[in-house]
Amino acid sequence: MKAVSTAAAAASFDDTGASGTATPDRLRITEIFLSLQGEARDAGWPTVFVRLTGCPLRCQYCDTAYAFHGGEWREIDAIVDEVATHGVQHVCVTGGEPLAQRRCIQLLKRLCDAGYNVSLETSGAIDIAEVDPRVSRVLDIKTPGSAEAHRNRWDNIALLTPHDQVKFVICSREDFDWAKTVIAEHALTERCDVLFSPSHAQITPRALADWIVAEKLPVRFQMQLHKILWNDEPGR
Ligand code: SF4
Repeated sequence: MKAVSTAAAAASFDDTGASGTATPDRLRITEIFLSLQGEARDAGWPTVFVRLTGCPLRCQYCDTAYAFHGGEWREIDAIVDEVATHGVQHVCVTGGEPLAQRRCIQLLKRLCDAGYNVSLETSGAIDIAEVDPRVSRVLDIKTPGSAEAHRNRWDNIALLTPHDQVKFVICSREDFDWAKTVIAEHALTERCDVLFSPSHAQITPRALADWIVAEKLPVRFQMQLHKILWNDEPGR
């Protein structure tokens, strides 16, 4: 599928009425559900996922293409209320690319103000400067094997803190070597934790684990718990 520009994708979910007057604060939402966090630093915690609709990228391995379109408009108050009904401490705002909707910034702040442990999964293609610093940002760096490496917004790296994490999805040995170079050039492991995931069906988890150990690379290998447990079933 042809990729659209970031601006175009964001505009498609800019909730502004025909009169040009902004309607109440709301976001296009694909799903809100309770599951286990399957990845990154908070893996294993019961977590409410808020999946925003839409993404300007088209990674070849994407496992959430069902979030590219559809969804329904939900007011931010209603989203925060629904999160509260699940009664857990961890909330993950994901997509799609959640930052493609500008009001995602408001949602993140509201969730932090309510006292949740909030994480954001973002593609790395959109500016993260306005994200509330209480949010743990899990920032993708797209490898050549993703087919979207040209979308990486390198300025984001300077904004990362130890509260954040960077994730590479590795599709091949070439991706692994490319990621090693990026880590060295940007001193990434001095900024925050760096995560390596095997691209499902492209390399074996064992191959990636062996490469990391052989190179003594200071990154964290991870496998997606939700794939192991529920095999990508939507809403799990
Ligand atoms: S950024 Fe994420 S949601 Fe968007 S296409 Fe890539 S993997 Fe899919």
